[in-house]
Formats: sequence, structure tokens, C-alpha cells
Amino acid sequence: MDEYGNTGEERAARRDEAVRGAVERGLLGPDAPIVGLLDVTGIRESARELRAAFDAVTAPGTPVLHAFAVKATPLVPVLRLLREEGIGAEVASPGELALARAAGLSPARTVLDSPAKTAAELREALALGIAVNADNPQELDRIDGLVRSAVSRSPLGIRVNPQVGGGSIGATSTATETSKFGVALRDEGAREWVVRAYLERPWLSRLHAHTGSQGIPLALMVRGVEETYALAEEINRRIGRPQIDTIDIGGGLPVNFASEATSPTYTEYARALKAGVPGLFDGRYGLVTEFGRSLLAKHGTIVARVEYAKSAGGRPVAVTHAGVQVATRTVYVPGSWPLRIAAYDGKGRPKSGPEVVQDVAGPACFAGDLLAEGRALPLLDQGDYAAALDTGAYYFAHHYAYNSLARPGIYGFVPDPQTGGVRFATVRDPQTLASIVAESGGAHVGALTTLHTPGSR
Ligand SMILES: *Cc1c(COP(=O)(O)O)cnc(C)c1O
Repeated sequence: MDEYGNTGEERAARRDEAVRGAVERGLLGPDAPIVGLLDVTGIRESARELRAAFDAVTAPGTPVLHAFAVKATPLVPVLRLLREEGIGAEVASPGELALARAAGLSPARTVLDSPAKTAAELREALALGIAVNADNPQELDRIDGLVRSAVSRSPLGIRVNPQVGGGSIGATSTATETSKFGVALRDEGAREWVVRAYLERPWLSRLHAHTGSQGIPLALMVRGVEETYALAEEINRRIGRPQIDTIDIGGGLPVNFASEATSPTYTEYARALKAGVPGLFDGRYGLVTEFGRSLLAKHGTIVARVEYAKSAGGRPVAVTHAGVQVATRTVYVPGSWPLRIAAYDGKGRPKSGPEVVQDVAGPACFAGDLLAEGRALPLLDQGDYAAALDTGAYYFAHHYAYNSLARPGIYGFVPDPQTGGVRFATVRDPQTLASIVAESGGAHVGALTTLHTPGSR
């Protein structure tokens, strides 16, 4: 149990109710064999825990913006829900910015980071007054030009890579020696270049680093923030005034995918930061955070119908509708991204019975399309449901169009005290076949047959 009295069991109970309700309501069934479910109560709780954790360690009156990393769950209703809970948005593309704006997020609560911002994107961000962190010297050159040509309210900063090292998953380690993100601080001349960049630009008021991610230990995350803070202190000392007034510590709190427990918690991270970098919290700096996975992962579930139950080489295989299209990382890199699977019967009730080692396969036409391999679960039968747990971030909202499989519908749920069941709201409609055809060049059906070298046929 955490300090709010929430237990993982309550979340699991809400999820079980939602699966049952989805089957009962026909959101999930023979004709809708896969859905994504979002636990609205859980999302609200995580947002409140995040805010409370940092409120508890910051000096009174410190401006703190928690900007949700939109890439984790790029869904407009989710951004609106988080907005209601006081959470802003961190965006990294024109698409993500459009989602944040559609959700009603104000420029003052939006932060733009991306390693490849175009000149037009930068111009728009500065015109809107959105905070921008420059990734590299060439991008800072572009911002120089924009700052010279127009007045902007955008808080501007530079992203640095403290190069404190990576974690257990290479692809999500942002603070390695050769990471593509930010100015690599320990490279020859880089630190001095950053200091001079601030000395020469009185309008640079922020410093940004995002060094954590799945697979990174808490202590290493704290070191990344420590290095960033030390650089801000050095810059302000050399300039002789507190020009850097806000430090953006990024996101990257890892998520426990192995059990129901939330670990580490925001409170643990905030306390570790306070212990390791006390000066960051004494009121001299405003704070921005950019958590993604840790806010949403535990609150999403992919549920898929078992279309067929078969056996191969003596091993039972449940062929379901959830595979590489919704769990891309897990299917391609199962060792780094294992998911817990829960078994439900045809009525959506938790399945009991002796555990049997089996494969839970997806619908895609390649042999590696397995949600779980050799997993001990109550034996899945035809018409049962398999649920991939903790998939609220970087999973079902990140559709991968392999085999032209349709994007599943996504539904948010809350408990309904009147019926003891749940109430649902549509977050995203299931993709239609017409939409798949349209996205696949349907409007240009004759494009290639009518394109021929003039004079030939
Ligand atoms: C991806 C990303 C985040 C969020 O990371 P999580 O691991 O989902 O918390 C925050 N900031 C930046 C710059 C990112 O690229």
C-alpha cells in the first residue's frame, strides 16, 4: 500500500470489473476481438501522487510544471483528463503539439523538445509562447534568428546530456556517451560552449536534461539531475545573476512491469532528488518535469479474444488478436519488455485452474508474433480473453500497421457505485476498414499504372 492507501489490488479489482463489463457491453467480443481499456481513477491518482510528491519537497511558492510526455499516450481525452489534474504537456512533434492544443492545453503549460525541430516548428512555438529546449548548436542558431526577428514569450533553454551512463535497455538510455540527444556535456569543449551560449544570450533562462528511462536505476537518474543542477549553478555564478531560473529535469521514472506494485513511486524519486540535490528545491529554481510512462503504464490494459487454442510441439498456443500491432516492443524485444498476462474466461471473469505453460500469440503473420512465450497461466481456451497488463503507455496507443491490422477501440472506465459495475466512455473509436484503405493510398489507386515514361507504354 502506498501513502494514499491505494493498493495494487484495488487497481486489479477495477480492471477485472472493466474486462467483465466490456464483454457484457459488447465492447469486446467475437466482432470486437481487441480493445484498450484505461482506468480513469488510476490515472487521476497517479497525477495527484506526482503533484503531491514534488509539493512535499519544494519550497512554498516554487513554480512547478509537470508536463506529461505526450508520446507515452498520445490520446486527446487523456491529455484533457491530465489537464484537469493540473498536468501540462511535453511535445516532440507537430502532431503531438496539435494533440496538446486539441486537448486545450495552454502554451504556458506546454514544452517542446525534439531532436529534429524544423524552422517552421520553431517559428510556431515561439509565436505561441511555448517553452522550447534547443537540442544542439545548429538549432540554437535558428532560435537566435527568430529571437532577433520577433518578440516571443517562450521560455528558452538548452538540452544537455550529462553522459552519466545508460541502464539495462540500450534503446531507451538517453544519457550514454554517444546518445543522440542534447549537447554532450563531457565532450571536449562542450561544457564551455554551453556556458558561453548562456553568457551571450540573456534570454536563455532554462536548462534541460532527460536522463532517466525504463531500465535506469533511481541513483543514476538523481546523478543526471545533480550534474544538470551543478551546470546551472556554474552558469549563473559566471554570469553573476540567476539567469537560469528554471530547470527541466525530464521524465523517465521506470515502471515495475513484474507485479501490481507501483515501484519506484514519485515520492521515492522526489525524496531521493531532495537528498541528492537539495539546492534544486530551495526556491531559487522553478521546476519542470516530463514524466510519461510512470503516469500511464499501470492504468492501461489490452484485452484480446482467444480466436483459436491449438498445440504445437506439445506446447499449447492461444492465438489471440493482440500482438506486434499493439505490443511492438514486447514482440520484437521480449527480453527487455516482458508483459504480465492475465487470463479471463468467455464472460470476462478471471480464469482460475491449474497453470499450464503456454504461448500467447498475436494475429500477425510472422512466427515471432508472441505476446508471451512459455508463460504459466490457466489454460486459455477458444473464446477466452488474454489481457496484457500495464500497457497504458507506449503500447496500444502506438499502433504499428503490420498486416494492416486495425487500431483497436480504446475505452476509459470508472467504477459505477450504483450497479457495482463500471461505466465506459469512448476514448478512440476502433479503426474502420475504409480508414485503413485511405491511409494505404486508396485515393491514389491508379497512381502507378498511369505513371509511365512518356512515349513508351
Ligand atoms: C520520452 C521523453 C520523456 C518521457 O519519458 P518517460 O520514460 O516516458 O517518462 C520525457 N522527456 C523527453 C525529452 C522524452 O524524450
